Amino acid sequence: MSLPQYIGRFAPSPTGPLHFGSLVCALASYLDAKKCNGTWLLRIEDLDPLRESIRHASTIQDQLDIHGLHWDGEILYQSNRLPHYQDIIEDLKQNNLAFDCDCNRKRVKELGGVYDGQCRNKIKFRGDVSTRLLVAKTEETKIFINDEVFGDYYQDVYRCVGDFILKRRDGFFSYQLASVVDDEKQQITHVVRGSDLLPVTPRQRYLQKCLNYRSLRYAHLPLVVNLDNQKLSKQRKAPALRNKDANKTIWHALNILHQKPPSYLFGAPLDQILSWAVWKWDISLVPTQNQCVINDISSRSAF
Ligand code: GLU
Repeated sequence: MSLPQYIGRFAPSPTGPLHFGSLVCALASYLDAKKCNGTWLLRIEDLDPLRESIRHASTIQDQLDIHGLHWDGEILYQSNRLPHYQDIIEDLKQNNLAFDCDCNRKRVKELGGVYDGQCRNKIKFRGDVSTRLLVAKTEETKIFINDEVFGDYYQDVYRCVGDFILKRRDGFFSYQLASVVDDEKQQITHVVRGSDLLPVTPRQRYLQKCLNYRSLRYAHLPLVVNLDNQKLSKQRKAPALRNKDANKTIWHALNILHQKPPSYLFGAPLDQILSWAVWKWDISLVPTQNQCVINDISSRSAF
């Protein structure tokens, strides 16, 4: 019996070069796709030019190549898709599923982060406006995700999030909107990414329903954290991946994903490690607990 077609993706925001934590995500999503003879796409989520740059986008591509993670087909840059996102917003507004809002961050914070719908019927606005998705109280907002790593995950988007942002006051489109629209555009079937995005998955699923899009399979990965249990991130100055010893870095990443790479493969040629990893990839071994690493993982040796 042939497997249903699999299309996966890695979707970095080019706020800096990849670090070890982002490599673990890229590797898992690559292996999951390749194990199923699937396609693995690269999408650059460059929605916010104030935080991101084309220079980082090109460094990320080099880093993926050096680590043997070659994507299929053309790269999709979200910065090329802005008129399309605007069209989607207009359609949602036409269908009374989105509305403009001039509430500021402070007010929403005072509401405990769950928007109360104050601007839903407003006509006159003060200053710049954001656009929100209207999340009305219905059974449809109760979302169950069956995550391949974390298992069942439930959230009522109405109760926990409320009307959420599709376009920010500063004119930038939200990650939620662009990600959902492009997963559909690229016909993604499987999303494999960090577990920090599990809590936003129900709102993405809800938006998919509003737009009559297909639903996807999800697998969220444990976060790679430092000794203070903080996610490795560009903001926390996680070191950029080094180009040196890419084979050893991949070996460590497999270890973090509990794939039990044999020690004889430590230092083996990269394509040999990756072939072994595709052959042996088993998502059921991936742990749910955060994985702690010392900062300079590539200097560690095999046990
Ligand atoms: N662009 C997001 C990030 O770099 C990932 C989005 C996703 O995989 O859905 O964290």
